[in-house]
Amino acid sequence: MDRQLENPVLLKCPHCGQESDSIKQFTIATGILCLLVHFSWKPVHYTACPSCMRKFILGRMIVNLITANITWPIFIIVSWGPQFARSFSRGHTRWIRKQIAEGKLGVDATFA
Ligand SMILES: [Zn+2]
Repeated sequence: MDRQLENPVLLKCPHCGQESDSIKQFTIATGILCLLVHFSWKPVHYTACPSCMRKFILGRMIVNLITANITWPIFIIVSWGPQFARSFSRGHTRWIRKQIAEGKLGVDATFA
């Protein structure tokens, strides 16, 4: 069995302050702008507990509905949808686990 699931390290969510054994850090598309001759988006590393992560992803989906226009379904398929689904998985994400293993994160950790 996975050692993390047997003895989980609880970390505080940087947004709600709740302790969680499943802190997630995902790269999520934001600031999408699709015009006829211009297209841009910005990847953002976001760290949060599963609940805050889902709120953030749903917020990005709504905020970018107008600006992403015809590309919006593509971002649902390649960015927000998969990250939203992964937020339901148990345990910290790989980067968080690596930081814990290196002694860089503990209960009183602050996230950059
Ligand atoms: Zn939270």
